[in-house]
Amino acid sequence: MTGNLKDLLTRRIRAEGPITLADYMGTCLLHPQHGYYATRDPFGQSGDFITAPEISQMFGELVGLALAQNWLEQGSPARFTLAEVGPGRGTLMADILRATKGVTGFHDAAQVYLVEASETLQGIQAETLKDINVQWASDVNALPDAPLWLVANEFFDALPIRQFQRADTGWCERLVHVDEQGQLGFGLAQKSAFADLENRLEDTKLGDVVETCAIATAITRIISELIETHGGCALFIDYGDWHSLSDTFQAVKAHQISDPFEEPGQADLTAHVDFEALAMAGPTAYSRVTPQGVFLERLGIVQRAQALAQNLSGETLESHISAFRRLTHPDEMGTLFKVMALYPHGAKPPPGVGV
Ligand code: SAH
Repeated sequence: MTGNLKDLLTRRIRAEGPITLADYMGTCLLHPQHGYYATRDPFGQSGDFITAPEISQMFGELVGLALAQNWLEQGSPARFTLAEVGPGRGTLMADILRATKGVTGFHDAAQVYLVEASETLQGIQAETLKDINVQWASDVNALPDAPLWLVANEFFDALPIRQFQRADTGWCERLVHVDEQGQLGFGLAQKSAFADLENRLEDTKLGDVVETCAIATAITRIISELIETHGGCALFIDYGDWHSLSDTFQAVKAHQISDPFEEPGQADLTAHVDFEALAMAGPTAYSRVTPQGVFLERLGIVQRAQALAQNLSGETLESHISAFRRLTHPDEMGTLFKVMALYPHGAKPPPGVGV
């Protein structure tokens, strides 16, 4: 298996010429036979990385209660879509649903949708959520024309980006090529003008790298249009910041940074999320980009952690305390990860985010 995707990409690039980083990233992550997400369950201690919902149930519980409170504040619509994009193992949705059981009418009104491109992960999600009536879609285009409460955790960072290096008045795209030794790596394309990057000539200098993620903008536009038209809100949680500058493309394997070209399809490939691009993608209002630690503290994670701690002792208590720290502490995920909400003009934002 390992060699296959590398051989496939090498042959293709030799025959057709260098490919965009987006093409490379998309193929490595989602190739139907050899793609990273298509061939494995990468989450958890034994996988390549751990995400917030896999660290502690508190994350999903608080996100669920924030969504439910916002649903109440928007008049509790009798039918709405409760969606997650890129749901991984399905843990976050399971925690959202468990925490909101007590919110009168919320479950009866919700139609649960999971937007997931990997069939392997769809199978794992079906197992996690086996007692729940769930619909799957591979694309946000399939979401119903209805009010929408949606969450995306570590989804946008997995979407394919393109990179461009500033060259006086234009840009050279960083393309993936094959060198004389047969190794995959970066090469620079001829300089050209890119209409989308015209405004970036103002805040960059020679040699700076900027990243774009067209698919993230396209997906967000659809979500934002549904929310502005029908009501609802979206919570986007990811690592990144307002505005993108510099090369943030990276590979992670077995919890370590690795070479993104060494074993295509075997490592997780990500890039930081440009929240500004997501905020500008559609018609809704948007919140401030709020650090995850602040967001969770505003939602009451300290009190929830203390309540759970009462029934724990010894090692389980230790690991609960360390999970709390990982989610909130500035040296862990607390400031690196950010939360931004989209919500209709004239409506209240969900609790937890700053405006
Ligand atoms: N939200 C989960 C998993 C994040 S990993 C968690 O927090 O644990 C990224 C997820 O997005 C995986 O489920 C992956 O299969 C999915 N994914 C990646 N690209 C996608 C795309 N273009 N459309 C839909 N899902 C995608």
